[in-house]
Amino acid sequence: MNFDLTPEQDQLRDAVRALGRKYGHGYFVEKAKAGGHTTELWQEAGRLGYLGVNIPTEYGGGGGGITELAIVCEELAAAGCPLLLLVVSPAIAATVINKHGTDEQRKRHLPGLADGSQKIVFAITEPEAGSNFHRLGTVARRDGDDWLLTGRKCYISGVDEAGHVLVVARTEDSSTGKLKPALFIVPTDAPGLERSKLDMEILSPENQFLLYLDDVRLPADALVGESLDAGLPALFAGLNPERITVAAMGAGTGRYAIERASEYTATRKVWGGRSIGTHQGVAHPLAHAAVQVELARLMIHKAATLYDAGRDLEAGVAGNMAKYAAGEAAALAVDTAVQALGGAGMTTEYGVATLLGAVRAGRIAPVSREMILNFVAQHVLGQDKSY
Ligand SMILES: Cc1cc2nc3c(=O)[nH]c(=O)nc-3n(C[C@H](O)[C@H](O)[C@H](O)COP(=O)(O)OP(=O)(O)OC[C@H]3O[C@@H](n4cnc5c(N)ncnc54)[C@H](O)[C@@H]3O)c2cc1C
Repeated sequence: MNFDLTPEQDQLRDAVRALGRKYGHGYFVEKAKAGGHTTELWQEAGRLGYLGVNIPTEYGGGGGGITELAIVCEELAAAGCPLLLLVVSPAIAATVINKHGTDEQRKRHLPGLADGSQKIVFAITEPEAGSNFHRLGTVARRDGDDWLLTGRKCYISGVDEAGHVLVVARTEDSSTGKLKPALFIVPTDAPGLERSKLDMEILSPENQFLLYLDDVRLPADALVGESLDAGLPALFAGLNPERITVAAMGAGTGRYAIERASEYTATRKVWGGRSIGTHQGVAHPLAHAAVQVELARLMIHKAATLYDAGRDLEAGVAGNMAKYAAGEAAALAVDTAVQALGGAGMTTEYGVATLLGAVRAGRIAPVSREMILNFVAQHVLGQDKSY
């Protein structure tokens, strides 16, 4: 058992931390409040190779794994810049295309994902189907060699920043029985694809959208993989990277909040000469949150290690547990930090309440805590499915 990062991973962590601190939470908040995007940070991270750490070197990436990408996600979040699009573009889209795309799709898309010049976002959630992916209603019909896609998607992050969206659909002839998904790489400016921005109570430079697909015509090679049989494995390929990297983002956010609060409570004095941190009523909740964050980090490390070793089933259990633990720990850490800062905790200046919406959403998306508990109950505890 080894809890140490390799020297290269250590270097990556230090370098990403330095980049994150160069921009910082103030930059993140300023962009979010102005309705802008963190384009400068994204582009610089791309130039430095951090967005492509998990992409093979032949396509311009770093040739590493999800362990490396989780380091990038955690360290940027720990600097106050939790970039959700890291979870959809390099983690989900790049993994799906690399593992299940055609040679042509890899050549066309991976170099741009690696250097950050291209983003591909991910659309699975639908208004009616919700957590039940078996009810997906977006349908792909053949029309000669082309495909026609019709359906609706909701809460899709980053569509306004991306050149393509990876859409999960089902083919017309699979509308009953078990889901046989088909994944399509759809240009965000394709005729028939409309979007409307959702008003979300999350302070974030990344936006969520409703997508309407009305007979969106796509060439045959928009389908991910050589045939329809690639769909299910391609969909599953994205799940573990998604859970592990979103967990890493949560752990980083938790670290950030605890660090802000600890700095404050160590120096803030309101009763004589002692800092408020000497009161256990202030320090213990922070220490408790720090324990929860550290436990989540251990599980993230385990999940990423298993995933990179190709042990997908075990990584699935660990990844779900890591996502659950990190989602809870991040929400606890930010809430505890706000409380420890008192009134300052609710100001923009101290930069912790600004994360309340994001960490709350982290208990719902990309997979809710309840659906993870269902997964653990079934696959770890051997309970029957209740739904
Ligand atoms: C900020 C944000 C960004 C997002 N980005 C994307 C994106 O980029 N792409 C994308 O495809 N989706 C995205 N989503 C959608 C997200 O993945 C879904 O919101 C999430 O999967 C839950 O689905 P739902 O909202 O339909 O909830 P529902 O399925 O309607 O569930 C509502 C509640 O009921 C619970 N529930 C449902 N079924 C069960 C059950 N069987 N047992 C116990 N509890 C149950 C859920 O846990 C939840 O608490 C995003 C969401 C948010 C908030």
